[in-house]
This record gives sequence, C-alpha cells and structure tokens, in this order.
Amino acid sequence: MTSTLSHNVFDAPEKPLVGDRPRPFGDTTAWDPMTATLIYGEHEAVLVDALTTEAEAEALAAWVALHHRDLTTIYITHGHLDHFAGLTVLKRHFPAARCVTAPGAAELAAKQPVSVYRKLLPGQLPAAITLPEAYDDDVLTLEGHELRIIEQGHTDAVDSTSLHVPSLDLVVGGDVLYNRCHQYVAELTPEILENWLAALDRLAALNPKVAVAGHKKLGAPDTPEAIDWTKRYLTDFAQLKQETSSDGELFEAMTKRYPGWAAHQSWLMFGFG
Ligand SMILES: [Zn+2]
Repeated sequence: MTSTLSHNVFDAPEKPLVGDRPRPFGDTTAWDPMTATLIYGEHEAVLVDALTTEAEAEALAAWVALHHRDLTTIYITHGHLDHFAGLTVLKRHFPAARCVTAPGAAELAAKQPVSVYRKLLPGQLPAAITLPEAYDDDVLTLEGHELRIIEQGHTDAVDSTSLHVPSLDLVVGGDVLYNRCHQYVAELTPEILENWLAALDRLAALNPKVAVAGHKKLGAPDTPEAIDWTKRYLTDFAQLKQETSSDGELFEAMTKRYPGWAAHQSWLMFGFG
C-alpha cells in the first residue's frame, strides 16, 4: 500500500550581487529569487534543488526539518551552481540523504565557475562545494510513487531536467520554467530556443495542476500558466532582438513588455561579458 504524497515550495528572495553592472542600464545587479521543492509521503521526503548561499541553505534545512520526514534524496534539476551550492549545508543537516542529478547535469556541475560566484556573492557560499552524483535511472521512488526525471536538453543550462510527479499532477520545472522573473537568455541561439520551447511543450503535455519554476517572483502562484509565459518571454526576446538595434533598446523593450517581473538586471539578457 502506498501513502499519499504532498508537496511544499520554499521561496528564496532575490539577493544583491557585488560588483559593477555589466551594462550601463537596468537596476543594480541581483540574482533572481529561486525555489526548492519538498515532496513528501508519510515518513520520507525528497528535496528538489538546494539553493545557493549558506544562509539560504540553513533556512531551507530548518524548513525541511519542520516537515518531520526522513530526507532520503536531494535531486538537483540542472548543473548551474545556484541550484546546488547549498548541498554542503544540507548534507551537514541530513547526512543520510543522497545528492543526485542526471548524468549530463553532473558533468556541468563539475565544471561550474565557482570563483566567479564567490566574487559575486563574497563570503556567502559554503567553503567547500559538494557535487551531486550522477544518477543513471530516469525514475526516483518515494513510498511507492514515481518521481520521473525528464531530460530537457539545452534550455537555461545544457542537459537540464524537470521532475514530474504523476500522483500529484506536479511538475518541478527547474530552470526550464520561470515564473514572472526575467529569464537567463544570454546564451540563447535559434537551436536553444527551439529546444527550450519543445521542453516547455513537454511540460504542458503532462497537463500538470502545479508547475514550480526554478526562479519565480515571490508570491507568484505555482500554476501551469507559467509554462505559456516562459514560452512567450523566449519568443518575444528572440523577436525583439531582431527588431532592435542595440542592447539598450532590447533591454528597454523587454522590461516594457514585462513590467513588474522580478529583478530587472541586464546580465540575464546579455551575460556578464
Ligand atoms: Zn537558476
């Protein structure tokens, strides 16, 4: 007999970054607000993503502990450091939990520019970075329920994944999915765009009732409308990139089209270079 699953989402607010703005327009540089999701049964739990800083991961660990479940697994959706730097802290609190991700994401995780993050968030990351281990199967189980890993290819990151929990009609999108946040589109090419849109269609086809984005504006509901909005943002960015003649114009056009979205920082659109 299997128990009923539940889920809960932890929202970490945006955090200021240290250093000059990479472009002479837009707000002070900040990191988009982000999420971690706990999926839990009667006795056990699985955490999806581990946040970035010591302070965030300590708060996350305390929040996980309030659920009074055995944390068996921490699953990392993709290999960007902002989603797994907190693992070191979580491992301290939950030493029995295995930390896993898909094989491609594990490779990307091992290549992360940790020193760049340390410069942007001085003294805030754990002293040692714990890497998630490659997990070869495409299903995790929690008290008899399947948590299905969906390989999504290159979206916000190379070899990104989402997690689908059929018994909860839940998808945890990772950074395939954003919710009222400016998206990391600095690396967008026509091929990545095409793949990212297909990845979002894959989420929509699952017809989820709940869709948790990797980055979301505080207070935004975890509803599947975020899937359409993420698609619209990507196609708008690609279109406006064609129609505008400078980075400044493109930035203006995007922030005008998406007023009130979290963190107006220009590096998401153009990178730090
Ligand atoms: Zn991210």
